[in-house]
Amino acid sequence: MRRSGGAYSRKTGQILRQEIYDCVFCKGTGERPPGSKCPVCKGKGKVHTKPPAIACAFCKGRGEDKPRMALTCSVCRGKGVVSVQEPIKTCPTCGGRGRSIGSALYCMTCKGKGVVTVKTGKEGDRVTVRRPGGTEWDALEIIHENGRAGRVEVGKGTRVSSSYAEYVLKSLLNKQLIEKESRDIFVLSQAGKVIFEKIEAKKPKKPKVEEKKVEEKKIKEKLEKINIENLEEYKIS
Ligand SMILES: [Zn+2]
Ligand SMILES: [Zn+2]
Ligand SMILES: [Zn+2]
Repeated sequence: MRRSGGAYSRKTGQILRQEIYDCVFCKGTGERPPGSKCPVCKGKGKVHTKPPAIACAFCKGRGEDKPRMALTCSVCRGKGVVSVQEPIKTCPTCGGRGRSIGSALYCMTCKGKGVVTVKTGKEGDRVTVRRPGGTEWDALEIIHENGRAGRVEVGKGTRVSSSYAEYVLKSLLNKQLIEKESRDIFVLSQAGKVIFEKIEAKKPKKPKVEEKKVEEKKIKEKLEKINIENLEEYKIS
């Protein structure tokens, strides 16, 4: 049987709990190419990765950018394993492959890991979402106001080119704040809706007439008190 954490026992998507792994890039020899220190483990033959981790989907755990090439994988930096944040699920964009079919670049949604952290909790759990800034926020507002929008609308509304709008939309997709409804049509995701619900809840309500009267009375009393105090101060003893 192979040692646990050995290079060839790793399956993609399987959660790994140890911190130290055999270096896949040099197969634990500490040398690659032979005679030179392995650039990944610096000659130690072992690598550290913060658990929980999974085998890198992009390089299939090999640590190589391309099979049998001496370039290290850009996703795992040659370690063949990447840290993840639980709970995880298979990346919906690339189906766990870490890249689009035939693409040389890693999947933008999972950053090549093949899995994503499940963001929404159980029903009734609070969903924590961070409000994006700048153009991303503007784009999100446009989608919110119109119900749905595409590159052109977002580009016009935020005064950016439609190619930049596409980039912004991609980023919002990665943050899981929007969802693709169809080609170039985006809607708010559950998390995206939560942001607007929170903002709505935080908006100050107009004070009621009653409250206003109480407030005015308080101010009047305060002013009267100040006047008395002032008068006393000016009393000549
Ligand atoms: Zn190595
Ligand atoms: Zn990799
Ligand atoms: Zn992916």
